Amino acid sequence: MDNKLITVTSPLLPNLDDFHEELKKIWDSKWITNNGSYHKQLEAALAEYLGVPYVSLFTNGTLPLLTALQALRITGEVITTPYSFVATTHSIWWNGCKPVFVDIDPATGNINPDLIEAAITPKTTAIMPVHVYGKPCDTKRIQEIADKYGLKVIYDAAHAFGVKVNGESILNCGDMSTLSFHATKVYNTIEGGAMVMHDETTKKRIDYLKNFGFAGEVTVVGPGINSKMDEMRSAYGLLNLKQVDAAIEARHQVAIKYREALREVDGITFFDDIPGVKHNYSYFPIFVDAEKYGMTRDELYFKMKEANVLGRRYFYPLISEFSTYRGLESARPENLPNAHRMADSVICLPMHHALSEEEIEHIINIIKK
Ligand SMILES: *Cc1c(COP(=O)(O)O)cnc(C)c1O
Repeated sequence: MDNKLITVTSPLLPNLDDFHEELKKIWDSKWITNNGSYHKQLEAALAEYLGVPYVSLFTNGTLPLLTALQALRITGEVITTPYSFVATTHSIWWNGCKPVFVDIDPATGNINPDLIEAAITPKTTAIMPVHVYGKPCDTKRIQEIADKYGLKVIYDAAHAFGVKVNGESILNCGDMSTLSFHATKVYNTIEGGAMVMHDETTKKRIDYLKNFGFAGEVTVVGPGINSKMDEMRSAYGLLNLKQVDAAIEARHQVAIKYREALREVDGITFFDDIPGVKHNYSYFPIFVDAEKYGMTRDELYFKMKEANVLGRRYFYPLISEFSTYRGLESARPENLPNAHRMADSVICLPMHHALSEEEIEHIINIIKK
């Protein structure tokens, strides 16, 4: 036990023989990319599984963010959260827009809607919130603000695969939502991602934009990019979709065990499930109160590391602290006290479908000790 490394995540892999069968079919067909049959099947299967009208596949979770901003012709300033993976803000930067950081709600880790209006200027054109750890944003409040000021809303839903609120997919909120199917996520296609949209016209436009802007053999309708998912990864994705429910249930069981054991540990807090929400257990963040726990977050993090348990300090440092962004007025720490507090206290514990009882116990014992 002691010399086996416990990583924060482990990829959900399809059965290799099953995958090999699919590869043989692809080899026979000689159609390996450009909207092939597996690509079409995966888009349809995902739309049905997720409970959304349209899905467009991408090669990763960053390009749909870039493309969403392009498609909606977003300019000027985009309001966003510093408490996320850096790709969220990078997508705004790559579109030549200025990110404006708004502090988070400490109860959820998501952008605090109460602070959005104060950050709106005549240059604001969009809001890009993130459903951090798959916990739903206050989508109703955000939409009310967007409607009042005429802003677009693009959700970075990279963590929110399969998350539902009162039976309705969280991915149906806002103008568009984006997903990441990176190997580390709940559902993966090795590298991959998707955009979710409401109508067929938008789906068509996005399909053009992820294929250089080609709308026909000799027609280019805009400055598109290349983000076409190939047939191998689409086939892999179809196989993984069949086992993702079981993987999410296995994660749920891990969360139950962590919560049972850690509830009694002074100075360690975590999120509980929210009534009415179907969670995906994509991450299990704990928050360390150094005074009550008797050890700082970093001390615990390195103690875990010594015991071969690799937690991750997601999301530390905040995006607003990176060199590209720290000069922005909205990146000042005084503007983002709750985000800083969360970033300074968080450790994401190992969380995946294949964690054994023994490993979970080992992790819990380190934290208790
Ligand atoms: C993983 C992730 C992304 C980027 O996805 P890739 O598939 O790695 O490009 C974007 N936003 C968030 C919040 C993420 O966690």
